Amino acid sequence: MSASGSNNLQRSIIHVDADAFFASVEQRDDPSLRGKPVIVGSDPKTRGVVSTCSYEARSFGVHSAMPSYQAYKLCPQGIFIKPRMKRYQEVSNAMFEIFSRYSPIVEKVSIDEGFIDVSGADGQNIAICIRNDVKNEIGITVTAGVSYCKYLAKIASDLAKPDGLMVITPDRAYSFLSNLPVSRLPGIGPKTQAKLVSMGISTVGVMRQMSEDWFEDVFGKRGRRVRELCFGIDDEPVTTGQDVKSVSEEMTFAEDIIGIGGLKPHLADLCQNVCFRLRRSRLKCKTVGVKVRFSDFSTITREQTLHIPVSSDAELFSLAVDLLGSVSLDKPVRLLGVVAKGLVPENNVQPMLFSAHMASWDAVAKSSDALRVKYGKPVLFLGASLKSQERKKREQQ
Ligand SMILES: [Mg+2]
Repeated sequence: MSASGSNNLQRSIIHVDADAFFASVEQRDDPSLRGKPVIVGSDPKTRGVVSTCSYEARSFGVHSAMPSYQAYKLCPQGIFIKPRMKRYQEVSNAMFEIFSRYSPIVEKVSIDEGFIDVSGADGQNIAICIRNDVKNEIGITVTAGVSYCKYLAKIASDLAKPDGLMVITPDRAYSFLSNLPVSRLPGIGPKTQAKLVSMGISTVGVMRQMSEDWFEDVFGKRGRRVRELCFGIDDEPVTTGQDVKSVSEEMTFAEDIIGIGGLKPHLADLCQNVCFRLRRSRLKCKTVGVKVRFSDFSTITREQTLHIPVSSDAELFSLAVDLLGSVSLDKPVRLLGVVAKGLVPENNVQPMLFSAHMASWDAVAKSSDALRVKYGKPVLFLGASLKSQERKKREQQ
């Protein structure tokens, strides 16, 4: 086991795109619409357009951005529904919450589409988990594409639609691109495609044989980039677009818990998850908080601000235990939460401030994170955590 490997992890990026999103939400909310041609958009009597339609409607030739009256002509039995954006936003939030369970690096492309950077982990496995979670918890299907870069992940999910999964591994990318129609590359619209076809170029493989100058002549400033895409080269990062202000985890218990002894293992789990997410975002926190909600729904929060930012499981846990100890736990607890705030980039923390003790915690964290991304789930646990308690119990039996 080596901690240093985490710096050159194999890139792994998942593109997730919900299938016929608005129409699927309508079919999910109203079972009588399932299996029917649902067309979400403007009324066919108006001059508006189709926003999204179900796959049943697509088989009649209806598609997004088509004038609604035209959709009606193609599919008079279509069920036209006015968009309920607020509802779609709720479902979208639930979907992105699922993505964020697997990585803190999630880029929202649109309401129903995003990239997730799971570098170092088994992208295919995580994509399977995400597809299952969305189906089971939200009741709609999503398609996922997995690759080592963003545009190939996106192409993969486009090709696998609907309700599919496609993986393009680095060793397969070159041959995959050879037969790919040029129109599949980002930035090549119908006009450029027509121009290329008129030059006898219909696949990426053929275009790849052209000279650097040719790319510049045809695509101008973008020539270099387009040529790189033909060769499967793309370093564009997955960007979250917003600064993370806090990282928190909480859990509601199936049965209320009385006393700190029963809460501690859960607290350890929560701390581990918070710290894992902090470290994946290369952050440390200056403020730690715990939240306790009792069976009567009264809620208490406690916070502590530190001189030196932390991100190791053991340190955060020990602070959280102190905070929890300051709460009078005289009532059954139904929810427990841990929050990390006052986030700072980990490399902004001056190394000279580290004691030898802290440096060693950092090393432990790196190793355990490397295992966690490799296996897609936590592998090493704090002694106090639930998982390690279970293991102890099993060993004693
Ligand atoms: Mg979609």
